[in-house]
Amino acid sequence: QNTVHIIGAGLAGSEAAWQAANAGAHVILHEMRPVAETDAHQTGSFAEMVCSNSFRSDDAETNAVGVLHEEMRRAGSIIMREADANKVPAGGALAVDRDNFAEGVTRAIEGHPNIEIRREVIETLPPEEWSNVIVATGPLTAPPLAEAIRALSGEESLAFFDAIAPIVYKDSINFDVAWFQSRYDKKGPGGDGADYINCPMDEDQYKAFIDALVTGDKTEFKDWEKSTPYFEGCLPIEVMAERGPETLRFGPMKPVGLTNPHTGIKAHAIVQLRQDNALGTLYNMVGFQTKLKYGAQKDVFQMIPGLEKAEFARLGGIHRNTFLNSPKLLDERLRLKARPSLRFAGQITGVEGYLESAAIGLLAGRFAAADAQGQEIAPPPPTTAFGALLVHITGGHIADGAGKAFQPMNVNFGLFPEINTPRVDSDGKRIKGKERGFARKRAMSARALDDVSTWVKELPLASV
Ligand code: FAD
Repeated sequence: QNTVHIIGAGLAGSEAAWQAANAGAHVILHEMRPVAETDAHQTGSFAEMVCSNSFRSDDAETNAVGVLHEEMRRAGSIIMREADANKVPAGGALAVDRDNFAEGVTRAIEGHPNIEIRREVIETLPPEEWSNVIVATGPLTAPPLAEAIRALSGEESLAFFDAIAPIVYKDSINFDVAWFQSRYDKKGPGGDGADYINCPMDEDQYKAFIDALVTGDKTEFKDWEKSTPYFEGCLPIEVMAERGPETLRFGPMKPVGLTNPHTGIKAHAIVQLRQDNALGTLYNMVGFQTKLKYGAQKDVFQMIPGLEKAEFARLGGIHRNTFLNSPKLLDERLRLKARPSLRFAGQITGVEGYLESAAIGLLAGRFAAADAQGQEIAPPPPTTAFGALLVHITGGHIADGAGKAFQPMNVNFGLFPEINTPRVDSDGKRIKGKERGFARKRAMSARALDDVSTWVKELPLASV
């Protein structure tokens, strides 16, 4: 009766297991790797990060992502504990050594006395006698299970496309051309303002590069895949290039805040690479997710000055993403209305990103543990990042969305309820737009962190 079954030990399932187990439930965690593989995972570890190694901004004062980091820390998150323990330099971002991070999470889960692990594929809907289940199978949910969920939900489709960026060996980069510097020399905790590798391009090199991207050989979609849209936040680089010759110069290749120490010449465009492992031997190409074919990727990316002889530890790729039309299908405690014994967590609920997936895992774990022990549990207040995400996926979208199709969403201040900030300062002077914007973010962050602390204090305690 007290058992919570969790399917999938990714970012969400691992956090859900940790939270439910700490809250007193007996957890059985079913993970198919390494018995079966996905198109993107490369190890058997829990909470594997399949593309970027970053949990993004760690600024809990003016950035909604940083606020979510801090809320998770306060709620005892295992993902944040291991992220903090395994960070690598990345300016103001929280980036990690992905292997050490995933191994840390795996060890913690394996060592938890309330968690039993079963390495197996759950092929289809779980049996009826599993009365408390969290499905956290992620964007690459094994197709038979995805199909069974689709049929149960009555929806026509649960899939769209997402892409991953290549990783380069640092010792294959030419530092006579490339250099280390963070944009505007921004220093992260423990960093020295030189966390990124920068590769400069002049105008002719940029034009030739854009041409090569647009004409390079791409992975073809199958017919059934052609109507599947991209998620805007993770567009392949060549799709951005197709939108116009300047799109990349205003996106991942913007040349601002960086000075070339070799020549002093202002670059027309710059490619940045971010450290990917603790040893500092691997760097990923920031924003360079792609569906170019492997051969074409090498040819095109070696056109980048500094990467002429680059060797790739991993090339980019494109993958299916599976998610529910959650505002329609899930209740406010993340249960499938059509079968409330099934609760969902992670990217499959229509949040986007490692961090947001883990956050929904945290909530699902808490809700499931309360159900298992017959306890009442309040949802997180909508003024918190947790609450803002929960409202977005379980109904907020329908209320504000003017009929637009539900799309996965990163956490952002646009999801938080408005807050009033003064229009004039203590001297009676009008506060200008940008300053007021910052004041508003600071006020929202402070309110979120106060409210989350109260919510955490009132969470039900383990009954055993
Ligand atoms: P996952 O972390 O994928 O975990 C799901 C787990 O369920 C896996 O371990 C899988 O093996 C297991 N599983 C699946 N089906 C079954 C089954 N039938 N039985 C048992 N186990 C099963 N997010 C970012 O923040 N940054 C990025 O750069 C980024 N790049 C991405 C690139 C790609 C190609 C994809 C697909 C996603 C990317 N994402 C990125 C999103 C990221 O994957 C997710 O946000 C995050 O991993 C989702 O967490 P999750 O727990 O929902 O799923």
